[in-house]
Amino acid sequence: MRIFEPHAHMFSRITDDYEQMALAGVEAILEPAFWLGQPRTHVGTFLDYFDALLGWERYRAAQYGIHHFCAMALNPKEANDDRVNAGVLEALPRYLEKDGVLAVGEIGFDDMTPKEEKFFAAQLELARVHGLPALIHTPHRDKKRGVERTLSLLRDVGFPMERALVDHNNEETVLQCLDTGCYMGFSIYPDTKMDERRMLEVLRRHGTERMILNSACDWGKSDPLKVARTAALLRRSGFAEREVAKVVWDNPIAFFAQSGRLDVAELDRRPELDGELWQGNSILRGQQG
Ligand SMILES: [Zn+2]
Repeated sequence: MRIFEPHAHMFSRITDDYEQMALAGVEAILEPAFWLGQPRTHVGTFLDYFDALLGWERYRAAQYGIHHFCAMALNPKEANDDRVNAGVLEALPRYLEKDGVLAVGEIGFDDMTPKEEKFFAAQLELARVHGLPALIHTPHRDKKRGVERTLSLLRDVGFPMERALVDHNNEETVLQCLDTGCYMGFSIYPDTKMDERRMLEVLRRHGTERMILNSACDWGKSDPLKVARTAALLRRSGFAEREVAKVVWDNPIAFFAQSGRLDVAELDRRPELDGELWQGNSILRGQQG
């Protein structure tokens, strides 16, 4: 089973996670820029983080034969922080030009403040200008209203629904998204939100069209193998092989290919390393490879 993991924060994970993911069939990862758990106080720390996603993470992933892509954005939470919000927005266009960037994200609502809405709309406009799809986070609290406001903002600014991936859905919010034409993301977590069994039921009820699974693994309690585990459960539960492949491979590829930067044939080959080292460093710390 080939897996395209469309939402993983590998910056927060160890190298063993890459190895485990490769063993479980993950051949490509998309890493959206996000909230690091502690507020950043300078625009420069965002830029170093963006550079790490484009360089170091891509290098680490390639060691395990995994293709690494990213999505760039000012995250919803820090859109509220006047120390960084405007400066990051200003710096984003040059990152959105890079080959490995397949979307703007994650953007969206966290607390649903006016500032979040302003930077959400501004970044949808950046997505439009750069011809990129948008990966959209939805709030953990008051999710139903968050999704409602997300969909209405997309309509208000005339953002094409098929270029929006509305993420972190559940049984309730999927009903709001189904008929809109957007892609629907589901984060499968160990304790909270969706788990494998609930996901199975959602797919039984609503089918696999425009459905996308992710592990959203980050610095919190999460599991980078959740997509593989869910795929295994779907198979055991009688889903046809092509239906499973659709949610873990075909759908994410179809969504991110809208960027015009995803060469599907390239995914059949091992990713190329630019050299043995990344800017003079390897993932080994003194050990011999
Ligand atoms: Zn995330």
